[in-house]
Amino acid sequence: MKDTNRQPLKLFNSLTRAIEPFTPVHDGEARVYTCGPTVYNYQHIGNMRAYIFADLLGRTLSWWGLKLTHVINITDVGHLTSDADAGDDKMEKAAASAGKSAWDIAKYYTDAYWQDIDRLNIRQPAKWSIATDHVDEMIAFAKGIADKHCYELESGLYFDTSTVPDYGRLAGVQSDEIEGRIEKVEGKRHPQDFAIWRKTPADETRQMEWDSPWGKGAPGWHLECSQMSMKYLGETFDIHTGGIDHREIHHPNEIAQNQAHNCSEHTGANIWMHNNFLIDRAGKMSKSSGDFLRLQVLIDKGIHPLAYRLMCLQAHYRSELEFTWDNVVAALTRLNRMIMGVDNLKTRLGNMNGTASEEREHHKITELREKLSAAMADDLNSAKAIPLLEELLGLKKINAGQRLALLKEMDMIFGLQLETLSRKDLRLKPKDAAISETEIEQKLDLRQQAKADKDFASADAIRDDLIAQGVDLMDGDPLRWEWSIKI
Ligand code: AMP
Ligand code: ZN
Repeated sequence: MKDTNRQPLKLFNSLTRAIEPFTPVHDGEARVYTCGPTVYNYQHIGNMRAYIFADLLGRTLSWWGLKLTHVINITDVGHLTSDADAGDDKMEKAAASAGKSAWDIAKYYTDAYWQDIDRLNIRQPAKWSIATDHVDEMIAFAKGIADKHCYELESGLYFDTSTVPDYGRLAGVQSDEIEGRIEKVEGKRHPQDFAIWRKTPADETRQMEWDSPWGKGAPGWHLECSQMSMKYLGETFDIHTGGIDHREIHHPNEIAQNQAHNCSEHTGANIWMHNNFLIDRAGKMSKSSGDFLRLQVLIDKGIHPLAYRLMCLQAHYRSELEFTWDNVVAALTRLNRMIMGVDNLKTRLGNMNGTASEEREHHKITELREKLSAAMADDLNSAKAIPLLEELLGLKKINAGQRLALLKEMDMIFGLQLETLSRKDLRLKPKDAAISETEIEQKLDLRQQAKADKDFASADAIRDDLIAQGVDLMDGDPLRWEWSIKI
């Protein structure tokens, strides 16, 4: 919605390490680029936190009345097993171990990622930019900066980081600290120099390789994002996002290339934003641990994906967030409570005579909208904004139409599908549950009948049988979450 009176939106810029007012490059617009997945495996739920954050940012910019152009890339070539030019290409390695083509692997995991994007109600960006569709343009980009900024080694074309001003400023550490994190490549002028084109070794054939002025090979991962972001969003655009690990190597390298390409000190994007990590002390987020934590694992345990979304929104995106099953179950209960509140609101609306538009907006509604705006303006403080939604649901005496209207607005930002989600939708059956929902409902009906007939022995026997089968019964629970299968 367009609201020109809304207070200035302020965002934390990793470049300056400060919260700054957001001033669009193009009046009334916001152009955002998000570093997307490397599609050699499923994304884990930590990765999905990065897209929930980018979606929150995009939704907030839209709510502020800005025309959003959001681009997310798909890295289907060029990302090595180490972020800094060492190891194998992740795609080629995954293809070899699965006995499939790298193209099939890319397609399979891109589809799986898109499915998770949908399940988390992350809005579709204006463009999914797929790296392998842009290789010719990446070669042209590299040719444009090669003479002044690059040198060739046997393994590829390397970017000389001493040719641009202030290399590594984004990382906020001395370059010798960055050096310590980079694996050595023979012949590099400076340890932090990086490959923008990697040649296929003479004795190898790669599944994904292209001809170039520097021989057959593949683009470097950093080159991909520089080329695609500027192609779709312009040489100077508003915001670039990614996980906090990208602040160290990937984004400083993108910035160096952008500066070289644009012959300017400007970093390409005005604001660089980074979400902090989701951490799991049980070590289940490492993709090398067989059954690592991906969204499907949560679903198989009976956790609705939007409960995970809520769990992420409950924390500020710049805070570390710890994953525990207790945390995600608590978020599921909280979401269930919200849905009940919305159900009540809809019932009230059904019983109402007047409509919201016939009355002046209640000052409490206006006040809550202002608080929402203040929380989101403060570097997307969703942790502060979510309780406002519950406050709104709790305003019992105020016109239901007005409350529902503000709820819709709030959910434009949160994306929790509060208007359409039902409590039944939230109750997913865990994969290894021994008993089906229909059986549970049938037994509960029998139990109710037994109680009505004052046959308490039978009622208790049914209850014990259900408990033995892993069903939690919550008689008299104010949530009316009458049963659930234990997680
Ligand atoms: P990748 O597929 O490895 O390129 O990562 C995709 C996105 O997830 C990047 O923006 C990473 O910075 C981000 N990311 C990786 N691990 C985590 C984590 N544990 N928590 C939050 N974001 C992460
Ligand atoms: Zn990137």
